[in-house]
Amino acid sequence: MEILGQSALGTDIHYTLLGDTNLPKFVLLGGIHGDEPEGSKIVFDFIEFAKGKTEDFRACVIAVPSYNPDGLAKNERTNGNGVDLNRNFPSSDWNIEHRAPRYYPGPNPSSESETRGLVSLLNKLKPFLVIHCHTYIPQINYTGIESKVWAQILAKDFGHPVTEDIGYPTPGSLGQYCLHNLKAACVCIELPEEVAPDVAWRMVGPSILEIARSGP
Ligand SMILES: [Zn+2]
Repeated sequence: MEILGQSALGTDIHYTLLGDTNLPKFVLLGGIHGDEPEGSKIVFDFIEFAKGKTEDFRACVIAVPSYNPDGLAKNERTNGNGVDLNRNFPSSDWNIEHRAPRYYPGPNPSSESETRGLVSLLNKLKPFLVIHCHTYIPQINYTGIESKVWAQILAKDFGHPVTEDIGYPTPGSLGQYCLHNLKAACVCIELPEEVAPDVAWRMVGPSILEIARSGP
């Protein structure tokens, strides 16, 4: 277990590398929104399942199960500073405007220590794909046409649609940062709200494993 940085309230943010670190890498991130704990649980379950079973992996998985520990601790969307971390990325479309307080993007891009820690890890490890896990209207949402192929793999057992448009703009989101700045594919898994862990695993666990075993 490694540390990518600290939360606004000073909690360490851990990540685990699964597979040979010389392989191409993808990120599996959960808990960016603290009131969506199911997205955190699926990443913990993936780490538990994959640990010690990575000999046939052709990608190294960077698993970040609790990206927003402050939010997860209080079951709120935002971090300890009241910032929506999925609007705080230094993407070229970052914008201070937001439709409600819980989408507050921060005073400026990368104002939050969580964002700075992840951005520096992304730029160091250069993943070909970032998958982040949430709950909402169930769907596999991708950013940019090059991400669609990964969304389709993840949707295989999912039972809900693949979408490109989530229905509203998301400036400063992880998806926009991957598209415009990192030039990596990005897919957002929106699990059903309050989904049971075993059901969530059947919906996406095997597909995430398939990506780890096939590589880019
Ligand atoms: Zn979310």
